[in-house]
Formats: sequence, structure tokens, C-alpha cells
Amino acid sequence: MSLPALRPSSSLANPLNILVIGAGVAGPALAYFLQSADPRHTITIIERSPSLRMAGQQIDLKAEGLPVLRKMGLMDNIKKSLVAETGLAMVDPNGKPIAHFGIVDAAKGTVGLTSEYEIMRGDLVQVLYDASLAQGVKAKELGQAGGLTYEFGKTVMDFKQDNDGVDVTFSDGQEKRYDLVVGADGQTSRTRRQAFGQEASDEAFKSLGIHTAYYSVPRLEGEGGLANLYTAPGRRCILTRMGDRPMTQVYLFNMNATSTERLKKMNKEPIEKQKEVWAETFKDAGWQADRFVSGLDTCDDFYTHEIAQVKMKEVYKGRVALLGDAGYCPSPFTGLGTTLSIVGAYLLAGELARHGNDVPRALQAYDKVARPLIDECQHLPTGLVGMFLPSSRLGVWIFRNSMWALSTFKINEMMHRVFPEDTSKAGWKVPDYPELNLLS
Ligand SMILES: Cc1cc2nc3c(=O)[nH]c(=O)nc-3n(C[C@H](O)[C@H](O)[C@H](O)COP(=O)(O)OP(=O)(O)OC[C@H]3O[C@@H](n4cnc5c(N)ncnc54)[C@H](O)[C@@H]3O)c2cc1C
Repeated sequence: MSLPALRPSSSLANPLNILVIGAGVAGPALAYFLQSADPRHTITIIERSPSLRMAGQQIDLKAEGLPVLRKMGLMDNIKKSLVAETGLAMVDPNGKPIAHFGIVDAAKGTVGLTSEYEIMRGDLVQVLYDASLAQGVKAKELGQAGGLTYEFGKTVMDFKQDNDGVDVTFSDGQEKRYDLVVGADGQTSRTRRQAFGQEASDEAFKSLGIHTAYYSVPRLEGEGGLANLYTAPGRRCILTRMGDRPMTQVYLFNMNATSTERLKKMNKEPIEKQKEVWAETFKDAGWQADRFVSGLDTCDDFYTHEIAQVKMKEVYKGRVALLGDAGYCPSPFTGLGTTLSIVGAYLLAGELARHGNDVPRALQAYDKVARPLIDECQHLPTGLVGMFLPSSRLGVWIFRNSMWALSTFKINEMMHRVFPEDTSKAGWKVPDYPELNLLS
């Protein structure tokens, strides 16, 4: 891995003692940028799980995320782990392709399933985690390191903040004071609830009324590199993705009112109980539903969540900042959640460095500079979501035929103009932070 050379800090500002909650995508990315800006920072990342969570299926890297990953010097590592997916086929109940869509231009952030930069979530988390640790080793070599520590199986029970810092009580009973606390703990962020209150947090969680389940099943001989999308009446949809991987990734999407209500109430119940609802909902969906329902019993990477956007008026309160899905989840339907979390980490570290580690001023600036990007990434074309999940047989027939027409007459390129989703078009450009000492 050839990372940018880490430089001793030339800043006169005091280094910070920072707590990051969540070692998903955003947390390790932030640690990387913080160390690069000032190797004297002391950074602790706590993760609720006993180890790094490698679960998750394919995620896209797009638009503004690409130049940021280049600046980090991580593109070569990312490219080694890309999934070779050749596009998307919509299939009928017999598996016959009805419509075909190719690879979209990742640099433009256009809506479409397959981007040039498809990567398994676990591979990306590993690349960012390794890179943050490698920065930590270099920082130590410089002899002025505060240090980076990951602590697994740990959460925050409570915190109280004043003008100068945040006092945190951890699940293991420890109590510590920090200059800055960052909640990078995903779309259902507990940090968000703790800092802003239950009501504000619930208010920010905008459900799209859809539940999704991700898991893998053994790949069948002959399954190619195309993703397959199958819609069934009753607001159900199945997506499979294989690329060049040995397993078939299964994504179940469910907008059926009765079972989504049941799933909503079940998020604290054992996974096995939730799987039962998924099996019941999809058992008569057609196509390869039998195979995927049986796969629910045997898979060991099942992950389910309610699809939502998180819309906070401000992404910080005092000395607590929200990062990634915790503060501004755009939902998987935008394909921009991972990109936004990496760019968000870059902006937060960049503003801290630019403001000489003055936390209150930096958080204000972080909110301001990230806001237009958040708004663009959260933009969902009207009707796009429900369109994939028709209710009736007639609705499914109309949807399939519309897709056939779009693909046959190559209207899908025109669709990008009809649904103006290009996140770069409003002119948001990744700001340059020379203070972060990254590659130019
Ligand atoms: C297991 C898993 C699988 C996923 N699979 C997919 C997928 O297949 N497709 C997709 O589009 N998106 C998936 N996502 C979401 C995707 O990773 C994010 O939308 C995006 O990358 C933004 O990353 P993030 O770091 O903000 O959040 P996340 O990647 O969700 O990371 C949040 C981290 O915080 C940890 N955490 C949560 N609560 C606490 C707490 N109280 N204390 C300490 N740590 C906590 C979580 O365990 C997790 O490691 C998945 C997320 C997870 C956690």
C-alpha cells in the first residue's frame, strides 16, 4: 500500500483527544484523515461488535468519493478488490431476461445499479481499517504520536458535555473525557439519540417504507456476471448479484404493508424470527424464490434493515458530530451512502485541520461545507423507489414492459436526463485541504 508520506505536525494548535463511535466505513476513514492531518491526535475508535463487521454485500464508490480515495492513495488497493459485474438484467418468472442495462459512469454519480467501482462492503472496510492502522504505525515512527486504538465489543452508555469537552461513560464502566466525540454508528445511531434526544432522532429518520434483507447463497453453475432483478406482485422484489464471486448475493426488498409493519416491530428480536417473516413473505414470489427462501436457513451473513434517509437540521451538537449514515444516510437507493460517508470523513478532518483543531468552529464549518453535498446525495427522483415495487400483477406487467422499452430503445441513457440525478451537476466540488497532507 503506498500511502501519502505522513509528516510531523507543523501546527501550533493543540492536538485533540477524539472518540469515534463505530468502525464501519466512516470511522476508519476519519481516523486515516485525522492522523494524516496531525499525527499527534489521540484517536480511539470503539465498535459495538466483538470484531470488525465484514458482513454486507456489494456497495458502490461513485462521484466525489473517487477523488477522495485517490488523495488517500488507496485506489490501487480498491481496484484489487473490485467485483466484476457486467450490468443488470431484469428477468421474468422463468429467468428470461426482459431488459438489460450496462455499467454507469461512476465519476458522474449517475443512478444505476452497476458502477465501475463495485466492491464488497467487507473488503472496503478492511482496506480502510488497514490503512488507518498503517497510518498509526507511521505516526508512531515519527515519535510524536498520540496514537490510534480500536476497542471492540464496547459502546457508550452516556455522555455529558460542557464548553471544553465531553465526559463519556462506557459499557465497561470506564469514564473518560474527550475534546470531540464522533458518532459514526450507522443509520440507527445511538449517538444521535444521546446527543440530540430521542424525538429529534426519530424525526430525522425518514423511512422509505421498505425493508431489505441481504445474504448469500451458493452460486449455481452457469450464473453469469450480470445482476438479476425480478419483481413480483405484492410490492416484492429480488435482486441477485454474483460478479466474479463464488457466492450469489441475494437482496430481498419488501414494501408489503403487512409484513413491513411486522418487521418494523421486530428489529430487536432474534434474527431467526425475522427470517421467518422474510420466508413467509417471499415463499410464493416466483422465479427462484424457493432457492432463496431455503438459503435464509443456511446463510451466515444475513443483514436486514429498514430503508430510510436520515435528515438532520445540523450534524453536530456542541462537541459531538455525526458522520456518515448516522448523520445523513441517503439510503441504498441513491447508491451514494458509502461515497457520502467517506467524503464526510474527509470534510470533517479537513475542517478540523483548517480551523487549527478549534472544535466548535470546525464543526460549524463541517456542517456548512457538507450540506450541499448531503442535499444532492439525498435527492431521490420522485416515484423512483415505488416504481420497482408494484402492487398488482398489472403493475408488474407495466413495469416489466417499461423496462423492456427503456432497454430496447436505449432510453435508459435518456432516463438519466429525465431523472436528473447527476450529483456533480450542481457544481459541488471536493474542496482541497492541503492541511490534510494527502496526495494532490
Ligand atoms: C453489517 C453491515 C452490512 C451492511 N451491508 C450493506 C449492503 O449490503 N449494502 C449497502 O448498501 N449498505 C450496507 N450497509 C450500510 C453501509 O455500510 C453504509 O450505508 C455506508 O457504507 C455508510 O457507512 P457508515 O460507516 O456510516 O455506517 P456503517 O457501515 O453502518 O457502520 C456503522 C458501524 O457502527 C457500529 N455501531 C453501531 N452502533 C454502535 C454503537 N452503539 N456503539 C459502537 N458501534 C456501533 C456498527 O456495528 C458498524 O460497524 C451495511 C452496514 C453494516 C453495519
